[in-house]
Amino acid sequence: MSFVSEYNALPLKELVKRSLDASASEARTALGKASLTLPDFAHLISPAAGGLLEQMGRRSQAITQQRFGKVIRLFAPLYLSNECINNCKYCGFSRDNAILRVTLGVDEVRREARALAAQGFRNILLVAGEHPKFVSNGYLAECVATLHEEIPSVSLEVGPMETEEYRPLVAAGADGLVVYQETYDRAIYDDMHTAGPKKNFDWRLETPERAYAAGFRRLGIGALYGLADWRYEALCVAAHADYLLRNCWRANLTISLPRLRPCAGEFEPLTRIADRELVQLVCAFRLMFPDVGLVLSTREPAKLRDGLFPLGITMISAGSHTEPGGYTGAGKEKVHQTVRGRIVEAGASEWASPTNGHATNATGQFNIADERSPEEVAKLIQRLGYEPVWKDWDGALAQD
Ligand code: SF4
Repeated sequence: MSFVSEYNALPLKELVKRSLDASASEARTALGKASLTLPDFAHLISPAAGGLLEQMGRRSQAITQQRFGKVIRLFAPLYLSNECINNCKYCGFSRDNAILRVTLGVDEVRREARALAAQGFRNILLVAGEHPKFVSNGYLAECVATLHEEIPSVSLEVGPMETEEYRPLVAAGADGLVVYQETYDRAIYDDMHTAGPKKNFDWRLETPERAYAAGFRRLGIGALYGLADWRYEALCVAAHADYLLRNCWRANLTISLPRLRPCAGEFEPLTRIADRELVQLVCAFRLMFPDVGLVLSTREPAKLRDGLFPLGITMISAGSHTEPGGYTGAGKEKVHQTVRGRIVEAGASEWASPTNGHATNATGQFNIADERSPEEVAKLIQRLGYEPVWKDWDGALAQD
């Protein structure tokens, strides 16, 4: 039994319809409940509940402060590699995109991590494309072990693996695993993932469970908003979170709410979720899951992020770079082109491609919207009356 069977049995069309048809009084009833079901959640993300946003925001803020305190945790993504064997239509790192790529050596990864530590970060998310040759399991374990000596909290967002493959990464010191389903709509998933192992929807859907079995104690899930209808995605994320809370109950769970951003390949989002609807969704997740961490990245513009921080968000990235070597220029002399997973000799013009004032000319995964420095973001958090916390987890505190 895994979430796949539960997901297959979900009355998703019915739940979306229920959401779209909900009345203001049904939305108000859901808002007043102490414990919510999936149909209640459908009411909270309904167009009718959009008219109750102020009340939802107040309740969401109160629950968040009660459960998490007036604290916002900060983390930084550290991109190890932009090599990838998958083709995902919405991602700049897709195998067939002619972009400038690099995989950082372990010393280069350490250099990037030290730059982040100097900015205050003690919680780092290692991100890499899926490429067994460049981003092998052994390489990842070495990166984790090296960083863990200096950074208390190291998480991973990398290609899904078998439970047995995850174990050495946990042993090396990784405590969290983030895996977005991207879209929970099978047909759209199939259309978006045109080549590579990521085509396997069920395998990806079961990843958090395999990670939990391997010993990860922080699990992150989410959908990439902009592919399928946002209410459909949100209902699936809520069902997935509910399943994981019941079945992987020793793990801390986080939900991210990334919206598609421009990237190499110039993919245009297929659907939209307006800013106001994103706010509604944050509040609905908080009301449904009082103890689940909600994560917001630099994909969102500064003004919207500042408004969302007090409403239910508990963890944010800041000052992010989505290109390997983006913080220090580490590895920039090795940047090359990869075509269909193989390094090719790029023309002199490619190699000489200017960095345009950036630390490296390696291509980023997507453009970020909030370009403020971590220090600026931390000061803003303080001005809002919250405490910025740079550390999320310390293995020494784990009670296993
Ligand atoms: S989304 Fe992930 S798997 Fe897909 S191309 Fe980008 S890095 Fe590769």
